[in-house]
Amino acid sequence: MDTLGNLIVSSPNIKYTDDFIYSDYEYKDTLVTRNGNDLVAKPYQSSLQIRTGRRIGKVGVMLVGWGGNNGSTFTAAVLANRHQLSWNTRNGKLDSNWFGSITQASTVRLGLDEKGNDVFVGMSQVLPMVHPDDLVIDGWDISPLNLAESMVRAKVIEYDLQMKLKKEMSAMKPRPAIYDPDFIAANQADRATNLIRGTRYEQYLQIRADIKDFRDENDLDKVIVLWTANTERFCEVKPGVHDSDVNLEKALRANDPEISPSTIFALAAIDEGCCYINGSPQNTLVAGVVERAEKRGVFVAGDDFKSGQTKLKSVLVDFLVSAGLKPVSIVSYNHLGNNDGKNLSAPKQFRSKEITKSNVVDDMVESNRILYAQGEKPDHVVVIKYVPYVGDSKRAMDEYTSEILLHGTNTIVVHNTCEDSLLAVPLILDLVVLAELFARVSFRRQATDEWSGMHAVLSPLAYLLKAPLVPPGTPVVNALFKQRACIDNILRACLALPPATHMQLEHKVP
Ligand code: NAD
Repeated sequence: MDTLGNLIVSSPNIKYTDDFIYSDYEYKDTLVTRNGNDLVAKPYQSSLQIRTGRRIGKVGVMLVGWGGNNGSTFTAAVLANRHQLSWNTRNGKLDSNWFGSITQASTVRLGLDEKGNDVFVGMSQVLPMVHPDDLVIDGWDISPLNLAESMVRAKVIEYDLQMKLKKEMSAMKPRPAIYDPDFIAANQADRATNLIRGTRYEQYLQIRADIKDFRDENDLDKVIVLWTANTERFCEVKPGVHDSDVNLEKALRANDPEISPSTIFALAAIDEGCCYINGSPQNTLVAGVVERAEKRGVFVAGDDFKSGQTKLKSVLVDFLVSAGLKPVSIVSYNHLGNNDGKNLSAPKQFRSKEITKSNVVDDMVESNRILYAQGEKPDHVVVIKYVPYVGDSKRAMDEYTSEILLHGTNTIVVHNTCEDSLLAVPLILDLVVLAELFARVSFRRQATDEWSGMHAVLSPLAYLLKAPLVPPGTPVVNALFKQRACIDNILRACLALPPATHMQLEHKVP
């Protein structure tokens, strides 16, 4: 890969100023209508101006559940990379890296060189993005352990690296958090001693004060709040409580018991002008939260990190269906022994996870009416078991059975063993880096229009999320490579570059 200083686009459709990159972009797609039994496909295009801010400023991240496996591992990874630490293991000396992060460790095909060879650049070189070394980290946890103690408890980081990080991380202490035993498993009660007391409204005010304190203390331009705390049960969505911004505010002030801790965090973050990302499956981002984010012009994104089994599923099923094979049964078993697994061993919290894991093949199935009749779906079962001994090393076993030619069957079995948090942490980084970038991107249709930001529901982050929340009424895309293409092509659009088509006609047309 080329190591680039700057990437400069040379085009009449781009303009650089000290503060912004301006792109004139023609967005093209195809409108399909029905005419009797015929389908009429009509290409259309719309002109957009896209403006990307070049000044990143100082960015802070606040993690809800900072002292958990993901929170402590994220902090350790940022520090290890920032200080370029190496550590000894029985396999020799190892160095820090950001493997698993698309912004830091994956490339984007930029174009081809004069000889017709592909040229790739790191994703973070395409547009100005915050560097992970520059992130300021803070957060909350119901457990009072400092981050060094949390890292030891998590049993994820190698011992020698733990020793190197211990001093710095022991000075980091999670702020008290909101604990509602009705929402997380009863088996979490013994760690819940670092708490904000009071009514829901008082808790909301305290979270706002914490965000403000963190921002002021560190002189931050932007703070992103991300939930990586325990999976909650779904809140029971009630009309008059969750359905609008106004009702949610009333219900918050009335201390309504169906307002979950995560929803309180989301409201506080939005009201402090911070993007809020939900890394767990629960339905935090109810209609009232989305409406408030829209009104305040800040992003929300969710739900649930797409780290391992589901990521593979959203590739495999896409591959099978697009190969013309018909998956008819998908059975997924997991066992894990970390605190996430312990919490998920309670039925209501498992149910939240089961829901986000269940709908991930719907768009692929619905895309192929040749294989599936209207409403037909494969059998799809998800099982999760808590096995303490395996700790953070999650096992995922999947069986995919498909119907092939003339009703033959094909069964694929996948066994996946991986440190759960080492998969999730790069996703946390990418969510933060991309959310921060997209907050600097705005659009208008013509020069006389006001600039406006992307929709408050930040669906381009879908690649990183198991059950992507999308703006009301828009289709959900789960297929991984479509999600990835969406990110790559939005980045390209910001630079007035055409979408990557992979046609490579240069090599095909004489
Ligand atoms: P963990 O149990 O180690 O960490 C969660 C932390 O949240 C704990 O320290 C707990 O004390 C704290 N907590 C619980 N309720 C809280 C509250 N209301 N406010 C503040 N802190 C609170 O779990 P983990 O392995 O770090 O996973 C975190 C979340 O990410 C889980 O919900 C999990 O389902 C989700 N997730 C993880 C992965 C992955 O690790 N690969 C993938 C997808 C989703």
